[in-house]
Amino acid sequence: MESTPNSSYPQYASVLLEIAIDKPLEYGVSEEHVSQIVRGVQVKVPVRGKLQTGYVLELKKEPSFPKVLPIGEVVSEQELISEDLFTLAIWMSRYYATPLRRVMKSLLPASIRKNVSHKNQYFVSSLQTKEHLRNLYRELSQTHLSQAKVLEILLPASKGMLLSELLEKGGVSKSPVDTLVKKGVLHLQKIQIDRSPLSGEEYFKTKPKPLHKEQKEAFDKICSSLTKREFETHLLYGITGSGKTEVYLQAIEYALQLDLSAILLVPEIALTAQTIERFRSRFDDKIAVLHYRLSPGERFDEWHRIRKGEAKIVIGARSAIFSPVPNLGLILVDEEHDGAYKQTEEAPCYHARDVAVMRGKLSSSTVVLGTATPSMETYHNVMRGKYTLSTLHERATSSSLPHVTIVDMKREFEKAKGYTSFSEILLSSIQKRVERGEQTILFLNRRGYHTSFSCTACGHIYQCPHCDLPLTFHKGEGILSCHLCGYRISPLPRVCGSCQSGEMLKFKGVGTEQIEKSLHAIFPSIRTIRVDGDTTRHKGSHERLFREFRTGKADLLIGTQMVTKGLHFPGVTLVAILNTDGSLHIPDFRAGERVFQLATQVAGRAGRGTVPGEVILQTQIPENGTIKQAAAQDFDVFYQSEIKIRKAFGFPPFTHLIKVTLSSKKPSEIEIYGQRLREKIATLLGNSYLVHPLIPCGYAKIKDWYRCQFLIRGVAVYPMSEGIQKVLSEFSPSKTLRVQIDVDPLSTFF
Ligand code: ADP
Ligand code: ZN
Ligand code: ZN
Repeated sequence: MESTPNSSYPQYASVLLEIAIDKPLEYGVSEEHVSQIVRGVQVKVPVRGKLQTGYVLELKKEPSFPKVLPIGEVVSEQELISEDLFTLAIWMSRYYATPLRRVMKSLLPASIRKNVSHKNQYFVSSLQTKEHLRNLYRELSQTHLSQAKVLEILLPASKGMLLSELLEKGGVSKSPVDTLVKKGVLHLQKIQIDRSPLSGEEYFKTKPKPLHKEQKEAFDKICSSLTKREFETHLLYGITGSGKTEVYLQAIEYALQLDLSAILLVPEIALTAQTIERFRSRFDDKIAVLHYRLSPGERFDEWHRIRKGEAKIVIGARSAIFSPVPNLGLILVDEEHDGAYKQTEEAPCYHARDVAVMRGKLSSSTVVLGTATPSMETYHNVMRGKYTLSTLHERATSSSLPHVTIVDMKREFEKAKGYTSFSEILLSSIQKRVERGEQTILFLNRRGYHTSFSCTACGHIYQCPHCDLPLTFHKGEGILSCHLCGYRISPLPRVCGSCQSGEMLKFKGVGTEQIEKSLHAIFPSIRTIRVDGDTTRHKGSHERLFREFRTGKADLLIGTQMVTKGLHFPGVTLVAILNTDGSLHIPDFRAGERVFQLATQVAGRAGRGTVPGEVILQTQIPENGTIKQAAAQDFDVFYQSEIKIRKAFGFPPFTHLIKVTLSSKKPSEIEIYGQRLREKIATLLGNSYLVHPLIPCGYAKIKDWYRCQFLIRGVAVYPMSEGIQKVLSEFSPSKTLRVQIDVDPLSTFF
């Protein structure tokens, strides 16, 4: 490595490092590297005497300071980040107030950054007969142990094996293999292994269906933007089963005809075999599927297939929006309202739908957002004329819309003389379904058996010591557990940990596990399947459970959020939400929107076959406007009343919010730094922006980290996000304090 500073190079490059240095550093490009260095190439550069990985950000003729070090190594043959993705990354960095370095981490899969290819594998086979090998083995085991070992492993394999497998099994290095190759005993051959996750699956080829009138209108509008190669965003708004997916399929086909590629985003949970199969059956192996279960090697392969243009259609969850698709022309976002599109765990806290629209703009693509319940932001953009609306009013097949009933649970409690999870009408409706051989789905957003455990003598509630959250009782496992960190207590305490009184400990609250148990007590012969975080811990388990349900192995499916989305169960004629107002009590301006979406999504599960469906919404506040609108399944009425509230209180989509979350193991540190940060930001932003007070988060402590937040609100987003970046760079927190910036947060409470 040549690392003496020099004052003249043919070119200079600013390099963005992967290690924690947010500012790009400058290096010289030596003569030998000039032809390889373009924007986006991965390089290694010397930093404090060590080579570090980074990306070429910009090239220039003149250095900014006299003595620069040269780039050490060029790692990637081509640029890893194409020009349009680079521009997107720079936009994200600015919009989401995140250093470009961190944005790159989201943009490039780890396997690409680290170059984890196992694709080019070597295959070892024998050039000799088995007899000969055996004799040779006997000879070598006296003299050359490692060569003998190689033969020992290879002997039982009739055709040979992968070099990596051989080396692993034999615990030897490659050199004895090389020796045997030289001796003419073995043959070493480079092969390509196709790890495409789709290969080998069976599927039927399907043909496009003749579109009905409204589908055709939507399709034509999309095609017209595609033909013009102009950026335009469409909202495809249609109830579940109205034929949106069919429109996506045909729009993609049209894009392919124009030699354009497409990206389809789906919420992770909807990325089931069912969805994939539907696309595969139309487009064959032109598809690349990206989901979290891919191994790093598989991800690496898919990424390269996409980049080479071999896979012209990419289907994936959130991060698939960063696929290196050449010639992108169409971006589809299914279930655009879905919260899973928002990254919340780490910076950048981006919303894949919004990034999709921006990528569409930068690449002159057509963007299609599809949903049965548009988000307020998206529908507001339709109303402002920014997005083009296409509505599908009816279901594509003959199935009719379900009938929705609101049940007042307060009256049910009176009738039952106490708490009950099931209304009379729900029980009789389930009974009917069981008799007729039809299926039911029950939704409850709480898993476990009881949702709290407390002492009625002194009021002590069993909470997680690390999270300050009530522990949930799981009867099957006999434990109390924390749903935030996994902390558990077992066996259950017999006397109160606080006042030592016995027999006063009581359970409260109902979760899915208890619902399932109660149903079996009421209907002894009922067959149930439960789908929640507890029953789907293993890879592939929720797909298996859904498949069992679809094929009629159960009468009733009970589950949490997971059962509400995108699934097609023709046998289901009854759907109920056990506690519709559950999330209305969360102090968040989006609570109403969420309840409306939940009810609509759940209702969409009922009656997708030939028998009309029925929906039951159990609630303790039947007079609540949102619940009534949800029951009437009237989005327009809901939108009109909700948008007035948003406007009156200055909430999004009329303003942007930024949530600043501070966490530390020391609450005092949060208080001191948090208040000063708030003040600095408020001073910088001035009177046009509102900086809310510093308050504890809804989850005020997670895994021993205390958490507080404050919101910043204003009409223009860039001054806020840039202001925060500026303040943070000048007034950076200590190492023991974490600051997270969430622009356009979905939750302002947790
Ligand atoms: P969505 O995506 O809005 O839920 P789908 O595209 O899945 O709706 O359509 C629902 C059902 O109707 C599917 O079984 C689909 O094959 C069928 N379907 C969609 N469009 C048509 C059409 N034009 N003619 C006949 N069947 C259709
Ligand atoms: Zn007690
Ligand atoms: Zn905990």
